Amino acid sequence: HAKRALKGVAVYDPEFDPHSPTRLEIMGALRRAIRESQLELYFQPKIDLLTHRVTGFEGLLRWHHPEIGTVPPVDFIPIVEKSNLIYPLTCWVMAESIRQCAIWRREGHDITVAMNLSASNVTDERLLAELRQLLTQYDLPGHCLEMELTESTIMNDPERALTALKKIAALGVHLSIDDFGTGYSSLAYLKRLPVGTLKIDKSFVMDMLIDEQDEIIVNSTINLAHNLGLSVVAEGVESQEIYQRLQDHKCDSAQGFLIARPMPAADATRWLLNSQW
Ligand code: C2E
Ligand code: CA
Ligand code: CA
Ligand code: CA
Repeated sequence: HAKRALKGVAVYDPEFDPHSPTRLEIMGALRRAIRESQLELYFQPKIDLLTHRVTGFEGLLRWHHPEIGTVPPVDFIPIVEKSNLIYPLTCWVMAESIRQCAIWRREGHDITVAMNLSASNVTDERLLAELRQLLTQYDLPGHCLEMELTESTIMNDPERALTALKKIAALGVHLSIDDFGTGYSSLAYLKRLPVGTLKIDKSFVMDMLIDEQDEIIVNSTINLAHNLGLSVVAEGVESQEIYQRLQDHKCDSAQGFLIARPMPAADATRWLLNSQW
């Protein structure tokens, strides 16, 4: 069991002491992970609810630890986010996302790849430079890449985030607000941000058929997004009934286990060629 086994190294702990040796150990292990290719980006498809066709994939990080097995991102990203290692980690994710998207597009698939950003990534000038370099290197148009960021990531320092996000958006990169509804967002900022999409958090989507409040939140978010000229994605779609209900509410896209679980790139390629979607 990954979580238990990780205890010997370090597990996510909000009270984490930044100077404890366990923290240094996990950082060392991750540095090694990047060097020794223990990281893998899994891909989960997003479906257009009007055409029922795949529009793109979200890249989700997995760490294949040689002794522990596959470690889910919740068990290491919160630790890495508090350190300088988040920069090389996100660069690795960005390179993989761009490289894989370029491969799929060369094979004739008209799809995008989305990646997740951490708070400190947003205002990091080095990341912007690396992004430019990678798009050029892989000859990928900026609009094929999406970056997902949470409300709290932006609201930390909204003015700085706004300036930084405008530079990313200027490259054509599509920006989405992740986990929408779970953080505190300012609608005033939402209007000013160069964001194209809201992603409704799965906590609302998964319960929308049994919890009337959740359905109201989902429906209101869809209307808010559309009134602001944004598109909206529902994550955590696990059943045909929810898929149908989201269609009724005019939600634009869906992502979830009903369609496919996150999978390695080779499986995602097979899925693209063989799935009914
Ligand atoms: P997220 O960005 O909100 O990603 C969605 C999570 O929901 C993923 O978990 C995905 O596997 C899961 N999911 C998708 N469909 C369903 C469904 O139908 N039902 C249920 N129950 N779950 C579903 P995962 O891969 O464990 O990632 C967890 C979080 O870790 C992500 O949440 C994201 O915040 C973070 N993360 C993952 N990869 C990266 C990365 O490369 N960089 C950063 N900064 N964060 C990442
Ligand atoms: Ca995400
Ligand atoms: Ca989420
Ligand atoms: Ca999240």
